[in-house]
Amino acid sequence: MMSKGVLEDMRERVSKYADICNRCRCGFCREGCPTFKIKKMESFGPRGRMSLVWAAFNNIIEYTDNSFIEKIFSCATCAQCKERCPNDVDVPLVMEYVRYLIWKEKR
Ligand code: SF4
Ligand code: SF4
Repeated sequence: MMSKGVLEDMRERVSKYADICNRCRCGFCREGCPTFKIKKMESFGPRGRMSLVWAAFNNIIEYTDNSFIEKIFSCATCAQCKERCPNDVDVPLVMEYVRYLIWKEKR
């Protein structure tokens, strides 16, 4: 279990990443994403996943939504997107934190 301080720090970073990505939407990250390559769907790539996270953070979608959960848990956390992002958005960290939020909502 992560400490309260670590969780608060992660929440702040994830919220900042979601806002940055939602404003930028450049898509440089999609190139190396293995799940985007297979599925050929925006929501299975890093930019799409970040849009979903932004929507969840802004209460537009629920953390317990099955479609949302599928997109978040299908990420391989390989960090190919992170290496390509000009804004240093750490998608694997975002996925890790959001998986924790989903687990918390569902237990
Ligand atoms: S970390 Fe996830 S979103 Fe990023 S490239 Fe890997 S599978 Fe795709
Ligand atoms: S490269 Fe970075 S800022 Fe651009 S869409 Fe991907 S995650 Fe968002």
